[in-house]
Amino acid sequence: MFNLKTVSKCIAPAIDFSTAFKICTPAVQVVDAKRNYSHEIPEKLKHIPTAENPRFFDMVEYFFHRACQIAEDKLVEDMKAKLPLEEKKKKVKGILMGMQPCDHIIEIAFPVKRDSGDYEMITGYRAQHSTHRTPCKGGIRFSEDVSRDEVKALSALMTFKCACVDVPFGGAKAGIKINPKDYSENELEKITRRFTLELAKKGFIGPGVDVPAPDMGTGEREMSWIADTYAKTIGHLDINAHACVTGKPINQGGIHGRISATGRGVFHGLENFIMEANYMSMIGTTPGWGGKTFIVQGFGNVGLHTMRYLHRAGATCIGVIEREGSIYNNEGIDPKALEDYRNDSGSIVGFPGAQAYTGDNLMFEPCDIFIPAAIEKVITKENAHKIQAKIVAEAANGPTTPAADSILLERNILVIPDLYINAGGVTVSFFEWLKNLNHVSYGRLTFKYERESNYHLLESVQESLERRFGRVGGRIPVTPSESFQKRISGASEKDIVHSGLDYTMERSARAIMKTAMKYNLGLDLRTAAYVNSIEKIYTTYKEAGLAF
Ligand code: NAD
Repeated sequence: MFNLKTVSKCIAPAIDFSTAFKICTPAVQVVDAKRNYSHEIPEKLKHIPTAENPRFFDMVEYFFHRACQIAEDKLVEDMKAKLPLEEKKKKVKGILMGMQPCDHIIEIAFPVKRDSGDYEMITGYRAQHSTHRTPCKGGIRFSEDVSRDEVKALSALMTFKCACVDVPFGGAKAGIKINPKDYSENELEKITRRFTLELAKKGFIGPGVDVPAPDMGTGEREMSWIADTYAKTIGHLDINAHACVTGKPINQGGIHGRISATGRGVFHGLENFIMEANYMSMIGTTPGWGGKTFIVQGFGNVGLHTMRYLHRAGATCIGVIEREGSIYNNEGIDPKALEDYRNDSGSIVGFPGAQAYTGDNLMFEPCDIFIPAAIEKVITKENAHKIQAKIVAEAANGPTTPAADSILLERNILVIPDLYINAGGVTVSFFEWLKNLNHVSYGRLTFKYERESNYHLLESVQESLERRFGRVGGRIPVTPSESFQKRISGASEKDIVHSGLDYTMERSARAIMKTAMKYNLGLDLRTAAYVNSIEKIYTTYKEAGLAF
């Protein structure tokens, strides 16, 4: 598809790549291990760049420190305060040090009575990584793999993700260690409500403190239980109580476009790079969606919607990987047909529009874009050399270990990092939170006024034409074009959400590209994105003060 928007992006790049990329040799440049940076990678993380199976939190910390190597000297250099150099260095180091650990983490254990009458202990966690901005924000997942380390890592990632896309929140994450498929709806409701109460009692939820959202294994239903529990208990005197969680159904204060927001954001994130001829030539391909193939891992919320938007843009999905099996079709898999089939049968396996994949692992098959949209650490030191895609779009959080990241970079594969590309969910969550605080949906106050103004405008054009040319032969018809007719009533909530998300993803992509060029990082977009986030968080701390 080659629409007006893509044309405008192609012909009007905000950055002049023609000169910028000339200085970028070789095209791929990882942070230089031999260079003497003032910022030291902590001793406990020194093994991470080569580790087979690092802890998730160590991975995020390592990526943070890798970017600090680039950012620290520059932050000292740019500090305007009239301080001795040593003082400046201490201040920058201190602020960066404060950014690294989790501010708070809570582990909660409580009993639940199963439908069978048996009792079971449930364990859950909430980590608030950073309160440099409040509330802090991050999803809540239900998964058997949940651990303290995972929740901490995901909360840290949320801090950098929010900063990356200019969402003014700190980072948080929650997880309950259960497989939701093993519990009835009644049991899940009891677990969710009890967990919410425990969070509320300890100050780990509230519209101005900490605002969860959906993640793996949770959706609108769980968010609705959370909002209701909070609003009917600790939040009963708070007019903003429903802003304690996002991703709610519309009638509970949710926002149009939240369910598909992460997938839509992945599409915009990819598009911003796919339309850049220089990035595409660096990885040996051409700009545009046409003819591009992709494989997606995980057909849940993020995987499904990503597939839908990429399909709509003109790319071809040739494979889908799920827990219970993978399917493959060189001619393309239709997302809607697959969604319907999965909803009816409970699985993608047996889908008549594709063949069952019987090879080693579908994620190693050739395609243009590989989209991990399931779990963390799927691309590792052991398998990164087998990836044949030209682009890896990290729709999931933390799918690539640091060792794998370096291998992909060395192999000239463009990795669009999680903290940028899957930020659509938190961006639209931010819009939902604002809507809840405003107590009015977007557009409600302006619809009628805008529609009438637009008709007045048309009438005014008609009158001036008639004044100039007369009415001989009847009135001069002035009719709105098809596209203007669609916009005549002003923007709906959905329009506003979509354009706000598009704008956010585009602006952040430009900022990442600019930083990648400024520091000569080549394809290392992850470091560029972290540097941007670190600089923004640093500014907040610098202005507000790091410590009492
Ligand atoms: P989901 O539970 O809706 O879907 C996950 C899917 O992945 C499920 O269908 C599951 O069966 C599948 N899966 C799990 N393990 C797998 C494996 N080993 N191989 C293949 N498939 C596997 O979850 P989601 O909300 O789509 O989240 C997916 C990822 O995206 C997670 O990493 C999450 O943190 C991240 N993410 C989600 C959001 C959001 O808004 N939901 C936002 C940002 C990031």
